[in-house]
Amino acid sequence: MDVRKEYLKFFESKGHRVVSSMPLVPDDPTLLFTNAGMVQFKDIFTGAVPAPKNKTATSCQLCVRAGGKHNDLENVGYTARHHTLFEMLGNFSFGDYFKKEAIAYAWEFITKNLELPIEKLWVTVHESDDEAFELWQEHINASRIKRFGDKDNFWSMGDTGACGPCSEIFYDQGEENFGSDEDYLGGEGDRFLEIWNLVFMQYERDTNGNLNPLPKPSIDTGMGLERVVAIKEGKFNNFDSSLFMPLIEKTTQLANKKITDSNIGSFRVIADHLRAVSFMISQGILFDKEGRGYVLRRILRRAVRHGYLLGFRKPFLAKLVDTLDELMGAHYTAIKEQKEYIKEQITLEEDRFFKTIDSGMSLFEEELKNTKKKFSGEIAFKLYDTFGFPLDLTQDMLRDKNLDIDIEKFEELMAEQRNKAKAAWKGSGDTLAEGDFKSLLEKYGKNKFVGYEKTASSAKI
Ligand code: ATP
Ligand code: MG
Ligand code: MG
Ligand code: MG
Repeated sequence: MDVRKEYLKFFESKGHRVVSSMPLVPDDPTLLFTNAGMVQFKDIFTGAVPAPKNKTATSCQLCVRAGGKHNDLENVGYTARHHTLFEMLGNFSFGDYFKKEAIAYAWEFITKNLELPIEKLWVTVHESDDEAFELWQEHINASRIKRFGDKDNFWSMGDTGACGPCSEIFYDQGEENFGSDEDYLGGEGDRFLEIWNLVFMQYERDTNGNLNPLPKPSIDTGMGLERVVAIKEGKFNNFDSSLFMPLIEKTTQLANKKITDSNIGSFRVIADHLRAVSFMISQGILFDKEGRGYVLRRILRRAVRHGYLLGFRKPFLAKLVDTLDELMGAHYTAIKEQKEYIKEQITLEEDRFFKTIDSGMSLFEEELKNTKKKFSGEIAFKLYDTFGFPLDLTQDMLRDKNLDIDIEKFEELMAEQRNKAKAAWKGSGDTLAEGDFKSLLEKYGKNKFVGYEKTASSAKI
């Protein structure tokens, strides 16, 4: 079953207008990336822009959660359900239908179209939301409806503005497969898999924190495509589904390695990150030292480091882009159209990191031997500054060792460097714009990195 198509067709048949995925970079400086289907409708929900004639819509939105309020970068490879880039299916009502229909539509789609077995479904509602509790009972036994507080079941756009209780649908993947220790909903385990969030926007929070009822309450929902596809294919891990396995298989061929319990995480991270990086590049994001471009760099370097663990010593990620095109290019034509450009950009950045990764890894290993309590902030800084290891990459390398970095020291050295850079800039009288400087760096990057390497190896402890 083509879940994406099925979903859009279903809501179209209920009168919804099908809208395209908006860009990953939203026209909103407070938001790093588009992280939900509702982002393109934000101004309609707040009333800043009038609702369109057709007050309902449906979409399949590409989302990135790798920075800002929603950051799942640290989860990828560790949970069975998180990606940095994923597709969120959603249906929206701008003052048209409300709870009753939203719940009925969701139930119909899940049980009739997706044919998920009713005995595996669970639902959560906000503890104050008697109305939703009642409405759900038309479809599911009350013992399967759980009430939770604000943390799990209340959604707000910001400190003020539209907000409301939400209701989530969970799929129990079975005690026999996951054990009973994760036997709770809304928790962090993978047994009860959250598939769909229905947000009931019915209040406006004012500056005093009061909740005032909205005259025309709205609906915003989000369902993760990858999770549903995995369930439909009988897989307990999104990465085992047909959306990711071709990428993983291609990587095993390139690495000439079989999948084992100890390396599977690396294969999964690479598949995830390759998707994110390719889409970000196809939408014009460039590798950079800060902002969105730095998130892009961090994601790619994490993938390269996992490639390094699998034995890669030169760029390999671009070789996966054709596979990605086969998987997603028909629906997301930018991937097909920009394929060569994506490969080129990926390889350039991989090249930069492969030049220093060896020295960085040995410095890291060396320091690890001497580490008892906290990993040295100085070395973490050196890894960052000289070898291009973003802080979160070093943190990730320490994760299975249960070690923290001496962050105070790291921050201190960062601040020092920033001040130095500022001082140097002031006195230089240099009129080169920052952009020019960057392009020079790109051009002569090679020489610069060789220099780094030399200093680095002579300074190796
Ligand atoms: P979780 O609790 O599993 O982290 P969430 O509560 O953060 O999910 P929502 O913000 O409610 O997720 O987003 C709506 C839906 O989008 C989720 O129910 C899930 O199906 C999907 N989703 C959210 N985050 C991710 C992710 N990182 N990767 C894949 N799908 C996701
Ligand atoms: Mg989450
Ligand atoms: Mg959740
Ligand atoms: Mg949720």
